[in-house]
Amino acid sequence: MIRHAYVHVPFCRHRCGYCDFTLVAGRDDLIERYLDAVRREFGRVTEPLRLDTLYLGGGTPSHLGPEGLRRLFGLLLERLQPEPSAEVSLEANPLDVTPEFIAAAAECGVTRVSLGGQSLDASTLAALDRDHGPGDVRLAVERLLSAGFEVSLDLMTAAPGQSLAAVEADLAAAIALGVQHVSVYCLTWEQGTAFQSRRQKGLLQPAEESLERAMFEAAIDGLTAAGFEHYEVSNFARPGHRCRHNEAYWDCRPWEAFGPGAARFDGLTRITNHRSTTTWINRVLSGADASGDVDAMTAEAAARERLVVGLRRRAGVDRDAFRAASGYDLDQLAGPAIARWIVAGLAERDGPALRLTRAGLLVSDALWADVLA
Ligand code: SF4
Repeated sequence: MIRHAYVHVPFCRHRCGYCDFTLVAGRDDLIERYLDAVRREFGRVTEPLRLDTLYLGGGTPSHLGPEGLRRLFGLLLERLQPEPSAEVSLEANPLDVTPEFIAAAAECGVTRVSLGGQSLDASTLAALDRDHGPGDVRLAVERLLSAGFEVSLDLMTAAPGQSLAAVEADLAAAIALGVQHVSVYCLTWEQGTAFQSRRQKGLLQPAEESLERAMFEAAIDGLTAAGFEHYEVSNFARPGHRCRHNEAYWDCRPWEAFGPGAARFDGLTRITNHRSTTTWINRVLSGADASGDVDAMTAEAAARERLVVGLRRRAGVDRDAFRAASGYDLDQLAGPAIARWIVAGLAERDGPALRLTRAGLLVSDALWADVLA
């Protein structure tokens, strides 16, 4: 039974130079047609879904503003009905977090705001091409916490020119702000982004790999020393404040998803909507199929994916629970890869659990091909 849903809101004020997400910048003229299209797509759900978690991501959902947010919730609540205890998350740009926006979010039942702060240092924010300053992040966090929302703050590392000391200062500032959750992401250089083309012209330099690792270790050490649980490769939470929606993804539970580029999953098949916002709108409004990629996995492929997402969690993968959920034994599925990781000190067994060590976490993205291939 589906208890989780994602809604993609593809609007941003401007496109940050490193970002390759599904979005349109400076195209607020499309908002009306987007709302029409997403209302139609909600109609795919014939019976209202009772939800444990609902996540509005983007893009920047807060770019809809207070009235736009009310309208979106007015449409979605016809088909997506969060339980009274549900976690309802919304991604926000610090500049959008006005008292009016906070009032609208509270009215709509939002419980948790994921703030795209990225840094509390002016030069790092400028290097990341962000449109807000450190004072905007501080003000947004203070307003949200005092209004009773749970707050997750995104921080980025390995920004152009960023030092280890600057990352440590960001971590200390985030801890001092009192947020309940921090997500720490290392800058990635995606094809087709402005950053990648500036890199190819020699105008931007990526951080050295050793510096990237030192920054990640500083995040682990700094946040865990401050009482945060490191519960997934990139995610840290004060006890009781993990993101329940992301935990559903990492458990490979089925979920619904709406909006351009949004991927839904029924346990075996992942269907991703067309990634172009305009194409998605046009197809939905004309009654055409707006799906882009359809990834119909075999049971074995789904089990391999379950292993990878499970190992991203610090608790790792429980052998018995894995067999019960996937029908596969860990060693039958990936015995040679697991043995290599253990010998190399990248993974360890702890009773029935298999988990990555800290050394494994630092190189985790490079390990998955061993299992997925
Ligand atoms: S605000 Fe977020 S989603 Fe929008 S362009 Fe910047 S990084 Fe991408």
